[in-house]
Amino acid sequence: MPASCTVCIALGSNMGDRASHMAAARGALSKLPKTKLLAFSQTLETQPVGPIDQQAFFNAAAMISTELLPRELLDELNLIEAQRGRDRFKTRIKWGPRPLDLDIIFYQQQVISEDDLTIPHPLMHQRWFVLKPLCEIAPDWVHPILEQTVTQLLAKVKP
Ligand code: ATP
Ligand code: CA
Ligand code: CA
Repeated sequence: MPASCTVCIALGSNMGDRASHMAAARGALSKLPKTKLLAFSQTLETQPVGPIDQQAFFNAAAMISTELLPRELLDELNLIEAQRGRDRFKTRIKWGPRPLDLDIIFYQQQVISEDDLTIPHPLMHQRWFVLKPLCEIAPDWVHPILEQTVTQLLAKVKP
């Protein structure tokens, strides 16, 4: 039997009923195959960052234990996003509004650098809206490249 891996996921929503998208995502993560939901942070409301004028986000972080491989997990997360109405072909605007966004932040201490999958998430250490909820559930997790804890990374960014 493959070993279980501990994984951190960042969640965001800024379209439609944000609370219900977040609740559905939590339920869907807890029902993923070969997976246990270990922790789910509080939801924060954060102002959008970047060039597009859009609604505020709800952000949260989850920790799971899973036997899914990174790419299998990414496929499952894309399915959950699609179930909440995210259509990647219609809404191609980079960093535009979306009902649900699920990013893999850490997968154990693995470092993956492929065209469509980068782990740790390449911008996580610059994003307060990722680090703040993550710090609630994984304060001592060490970034495998930066070799700093989530608490240390959070101390360096502004909301
Ligand atoms: P950002 O990556 O800056 O948070 P985004 O979440 O808005 O941007 P998306 O449009 O949701 O970007 O995703 C684009 C692609 O990113 C996905 O199709 C996926 O293949 C790829 N990707 C690469 N690394 C990851 C990761 N760690 N978690 C989720 N998706 C990833
Ligand atoms: Ca994202
Ligand atoms: Ca994403």
